[in-house]
Amino acid sequence: MEIIGDTALVTGGGRGIGRAICTELASQGLDVVVADIDADGMAETVAELEEYGVRALAVDADVSDETSVRDAVETAEEAFGAIDVLVNNAGIAGPTKDVEDVTAEEWDATLGVNLRGAFLMSRELVGGMKSRGYGRIVNISSASGKRPVPQRSPYTASKSGLLGLTRTLAVEGGPHDVNANAVCPGSVAGPRIDRVIEREADARGVSAETVADEKRAKSPRNEFVQPEDVARTVAYLCSTAADRVIGQSVNVSGGKVTY
Ligand code: NAD
Repeated sequence: MEIIGDTALVTGGGRGIGRAICTELASQGLDVVVADIDADGMAETVAELEEYGVRALAVDADVSDETSVRDAVETAEEAFGAIDVLVNNAGIAGPTKDVEDVTAEEWDATLGVNLRGAFLMSRELVGGMKSRGYGRIVNISSASGKRPVPQRSPYTASKSGLLGLTRTLAVEGGPHDVNANAVCPGSVAGPRIDRVIEREADARGVSAETVADEKRAKSPRNEFVQPEDVARTVAYLCSTAADRVIGQSVNVSGGKVTY
């Protein structure tokens, strides 16, 4: 599985799934720009990437902010030249409450990072990819973008919206060999799922263990997905093996049922 291209930019690469994606791409020889709001997390990721002998660069970027995205891309391109692979991974969980209790600010904040962020980054980079005749974009959506999840309306809407953006990027980019796909992880082991579980347990008045057991049981393997499972799928979608996998959303959900 060869990845054509030399450079990748991964948003939210300062920890979790994003860090695993950065590591996977670096292990395949790509130089990686890590774009995040967490300077300490990015420094840790960059230190890991340098062990693969590739160039790694941390760039401060709030993906929800137009100016910040523009500045980050300018810095990345000045350092590494053209960006061949973009992974829109940065995301926040948003509130856990019924629709009638969600504030407009909570709605905007969640869609701002998860959907507007992917739009802003893609907009900044896709023109260059098209003019060079090559590019790969992978958007990290969620199983929650394909199935109803009570009390998570901003998150589910943002992740469903990301699938629409992915399909549009794919058909617009197709003639220029600029491909876009999405990955839909189920519950992934790590600190984030622990926080989501705690909030859901509080909202429902049950123990965190109960919620964790329920989430694990949604997979026939009765386990959480690992960040590396998602990262390997991202690498596949960027490889020549997936050249005709265009505008799709690939579930990496351990068999959790989605629509
Ligand atoms: P995480 O919270 O561990 O890491 C998210 C990263 O994004 C952090 O480094 C954070 O600093 C960064 N980030 C947050 N807001 C940002 C912003 N405005 N600009 C730039 N960076 C920002 O999350 P994770 O579990 O690694 O999830 C990564 C992606 O996978 C997210 O899009 C998430 O919705 C999606 N996802 C996660 C799970 C799961 O169970 N963890 C399941 C399905 C989908």
